[in-house]
Amino acid sequence: GSSIDWAAVRADFPLLTRQVHGKPLIYFDSANTGQKPNAVIEAVDDFYRRHNANVSRAVHALGTEATEAYEGARGKLARFLNVRADELVLCSGTTFALNLVAYSWALPQLKPGDAIVLTRMEHHANIVPWQLVAQRTGAVIKVAEIDELGRLDLERLYALLTPEVKLLALTHVSNVLGTVNPVREICREARKRGIVTVVDGSQAAPHRALDLPSIGCDFYAITGHKMNGPTGTGALWARRELLAQMPPFLGGGEMIKEVRFEGTVFNDAPHKFEAGTPNIAGFVGLGAAVDYLSALGMDNIDARERTLLDYATGALQTVPGLRIFGQAPDKAAVISFLVEGAHAHDLATLLDLEGVAIRSGHHCAHPLMHHFGVPATCRASLAYYNTFEEIDAFVAALQKVRTLLA
Ligand code: PMP
Repeated sequence: GSSIDWAAVRADFPLLTRQVHGKPLIYFDSANTGQKPNAVIEAVDDFYRRHNANVSRAVHALGTEATEAYEGARGKLARFLNVRADELVLCSGTTFALNLVAYSWALPQLKPGDAIVLTRMEHHANIVPWQLVAQRTGAVIKVAEIDELGRLDLERLYALLTPEVKLLALTHVSNVLGTVNPVREICREARKRGIVTVVDGSQAAPHRALDLPSIGCDFYAITGHKMNGPTGTGALWARRELLAQMPPFLGGGEMIKEVRFEGTVFNDAPHKFEAGTPNIAGFVGLGAAVDYLSALGMDNIDARERTLLDYATGALQTVPGLRIFGQAPDKAAVISFLVEGAHAHDLATLLDLEGVAIRSGHHCAHPLMHHFGVPATCRASLAYYNTFEEIDAFVAALQKVRTLLA
């Protein structure tokens, strides 16, 4: 066991001391966005107070400090993911990262008759960019289905990987079901067949130690705000050969070596994909978030969250008529549920009045909702800074509001 004082860790998050509607806040929406520790808030504040300047342009001291801070954050993130810094494109988040792959890799590569394989549990950010590419290239989309526990049916997935398939895009961890997909095994099967793999790591990076080379994918996308970093930060990791062959997505400053009206020489990757002034302060904050997570230890975070998940799952089973969506053995601390006779939004609205923040809705996963035949679910998502007492209070509040609705 770890010797981490989780109460002291929780005290690093100023927002968690808030009250809402006169009740102590119980924040169970970390899969939506994570709360920020003082270290991150102070890093952003310090950047604007003492170091603010643009990157890669000015030779003056502040310009150098800003560039070092920004590139330092890239280095921290690269170490966190165990990849090379020059293979990490910094961008606004997973949505941008996946669109970058869609427009710069897939659009020039795919042809009529080619196929893209997605899974039933993808977030819209890992569906819609591929639909846009499919419409423009004549490629088709095929979907890998899930079983009753919310796991990918691997045999059926592999059967879909026929010679027309050029790309497989799938999430590492489902934002609705919590399912942790065996991405290493899946990417190995795809690679054997020459299929390029894109992994959406939005919900994995905040919770588990990641070693991207061992996953064996071609592209991996993350979003900083779910990792206790600022909004508007994220990254795409890609193998260097792929980045070198991809044309830029956006044109502008920072991404060039030389511009003439007759033609432009682009900068090398990753800068080729980072046109314009980036979210410098945001990445300084993300660097601090990565330091914070690393100091806690991702394995300690993972163990803590598994304990919270088991406790919450058990406690919710005492609520009559409650159904949990997604019961994979390997699961992140995300619990989607419905209570018989109650609408998801009504439950979430009444819980809010009790101080409990959960999400209700389709969770940007319409195809998954269609699969279950429901328009929406409630989702309680936990993080290491949550407590067992909060879970007890949440379940008690749910028992109370359920009787108001049923
Ligand atoms: N994929 C998954 C699995 C997600 O949970 C999210 C965020 N809800 C995204 C993609 C999109 O991330 P962002 O909005 O930060 O780009």
